[in-house]
Amino acid sequence: MITGQSRVNWGYLATVPVLLSIRIYLSAFFLFKESCSSSMLAAQENRVIALEEWEEKWQQDKIGFHHPHVHKMLEANIDKVVAGRTGIKFFFPLCGKAVDMKWTAELGHTVVGVELTEKAIRQFFEESEMSYTEENVPTIPGAKVFRNSEKTVSLYQCDIYKFSSSLEGQFGAIWDRGALVAINPKDREKYAALMVSLMAPDCRYLLDTLLYNPELHKALHRSSIFCTG
Ligand code: SAH
Repeated sequence: MITGQSRVNWGYLATVPVLLSIRIYLSAFFLFKESCSSSMLAAQENRVIALEEWEEKWQQDKIGFHHPHVHKMLEANIDKVVAGRTGIKFFFPLCGKAVDMKWTAELGHTVVGVELTEKAIRQFFEESEMSYTEENVPTIPGAKVFRNSEKTVSLYQCDIYKFSSSLEGQFGAIWDRGALVAINPKDREKYAALMVSLMAPDCRYLLDTLLYNPELHKALHRSSIFCTG
């Protein structure tokens, strides 16, 4: 088990039991990283979206990333993620109000999400027709946790980097959609270290990401994989 950041690196993440039956494996990130030109890396490295900008998107309902239906990739791969287990604790980083969380809870798993924006969390519970409670998180100033009455869905309202395994332990599965691709490039290693620290030994990690050249596709500048072959 990884216990400290000094032992965590991108290369390690490619070796943990991660399920990536998607457009590209995360491990390809490392392979492509080696073959990308430094100018292509530089095209992404300094791009930053502030937390306030995410808040604004939600306040202005500019949430084109939200899908009203369960994500096809999750549906197609759920059996591989579950791998015969029951009652898995699923983690949804940067969860927004993804309907995937309700669907996963209805399969009998428990769901923990982290989302910056309170509006997104409230909308999730309201649109899912789940009654919920909210309370402060004593160890994170300003953070709240919202839970449905069955306590099968717990959504933390805070910056992802303030979340840790001390709050909910480690997870048996992680569904990373719109999360790795949304974080600022400069934070990728910190994000990877956090994800590794949240993974139980039998954790399966399903990741939705994409591969492109940011010099050719500026509009996708915030996505995480950055080099075409
Ligand atoms: N996973 C969701 C949302 C993806 S969009 C889905 O599939 O629909 C990225 C989400 O991350 C936004 O809702 C944004 O408010 C949230 N977010 C961005 N930066 C964050 C951070 N540092 N900590 C927690 N949430 C963050």
